[in-house]
Amino acid sequence: MNTQEIIDMGQKYVMNTYGRLPMALVKGEGPYVWDAEGNKYLDFVAGLAVNSLGHCHPKVVEAVREQAGKLMHVSNLYWIEPQVKLAKLLVEKSALDKVFFCNSGAEANEGAIKLARKYAKKYLGPEKYEIITMEKSFHGRTLAAITATAQPKYQKDLDPLPPGFKYVPFNDIQALEEALTPNTCAVMMEPVQGEGGVNVADYEFMQKVSKLCDDKNLLLIFDEVQCGLGRTGKLFAYEYYGVEPDIMTLAKAIAGGVPMGALLAKEKVAGCFQPGDHASTFGGNPLASAAAYAAVSILADGSFLAEVAGKGLYFEEKLHYLQDKYPFITDVRGKGLILGLGITVEGKPIADSCQEKGLLINCVGSNVLRFIPPLTISTEHIDYATAVLDEVMTAI
Ligand SMILES: *Cc1c(COP(=O)(O)O)cnc(C)c1O
Repeated sequence: MNTQEIIDMGQKYVMNTYGRLPMALVKGEGPYVWDAEGNKYLDFVAGLAVNSLGHCHPKVVEAVREQAGKLMHVSNLYWIEPQVKLAKLLVEKSALDKVFFCNSGAEANEGAIKLARKYAKKYLGPEKYEIITMEKSFHGRTLAAITATAQPKYQKDLDPLPPGFKYVPFNDIQALEEALTPNTCAVMMEPVQGEGGVNVADYEFMQKVSKLCDDKNLLLIFDEVQCGLGRTGKLFAYEYYGVEPDIMTLAKAIAGGVPMGALLAKEKVAGCFQPGDHASTFGGNPLASAAAYAAVSILADGSFLAEVAGKGLYFEEKLHYLQDKYPFITDVRGKGLILGLGITVEGKPIADSCQEKGLLINCVGSNVLRFIPPLTISTEHIDYATAVLDEVMTAI
């Protein structure tokens, strides 16, 4: 099918929930994708931080091929070898003790919210249910996750929303302290906000939040769905802050492109889920688990992570060069290979022009250009992307 045929059929049969670009992607390899007309693009969107290993990483493809021919799915009524191996790997590489598997970031956060409430009922008291989240956060699209997401545009016309959430400005410890009530049971946040504009938590703020949670017996929940699994140059973003969450959620990059989410927790917290309390038919099925084991094994490698951090700094320098050159760029933000450019002009025309020149980027909100390339890119790819941005920005 050509692009127009795909678009026509999609507009007739697929619900209109995405502001899609008029292009259809049909093939990917490493940091590149091809559209239905045969045009090649350098992909700095990477499936929204899913394709951290690039497209069709040979190790992930091999794991999927092998597992698909052996056993794709059985229920969680039975033990599944690839799932337990993956859980062991995640636990050994993180500060958490137990894992629950699901299929998306929203579902992982939904599980985190349920687990926090179960813990609160068991250990803190019947009145403890409220979760404080951060303005500009993004936690997913299910009803509880969208309520945790403190951005009115995502909640519009969905009321009544589930009660028990309260919002404070990001990086504002005083506001957080003032927002605590006798009902508070947890604080939930992304160490690096993705969808909300690539906002990095301050070191001091994170230290104080962690201490506050310890002092007041509150659970600390980190949503590392986007910033986790190597994206920032450490396996988990919280490692930059010398703090540990009680609960952490993952998804996006975890299975190299196969849908999967995960909810991790400290032993005492995890123990609040007993048989029958939570479940997911597909969660951690053999196919997704095999893909994830292959992907996480690479993402968790120390020298791989060191390279990501180095490439992040290199890219940041290039973005600062653009900032010095163009007055409409207000700031460079992010960590590792989740980077953003704050701009005072509309982002979409810039992203569109980049696409015409063979570079895929996207904007979050209207005034932040976001870069979440595969972590496997080279400095040459960064140079190319910078050159395209420079060319596009000269014309503004
Ligand atoms: C993408 C994202 C989610 C939602 O993940 P889905 O798989 O789309 O449900 C949740 N939290 C963060 C931080 C995200 O970036």
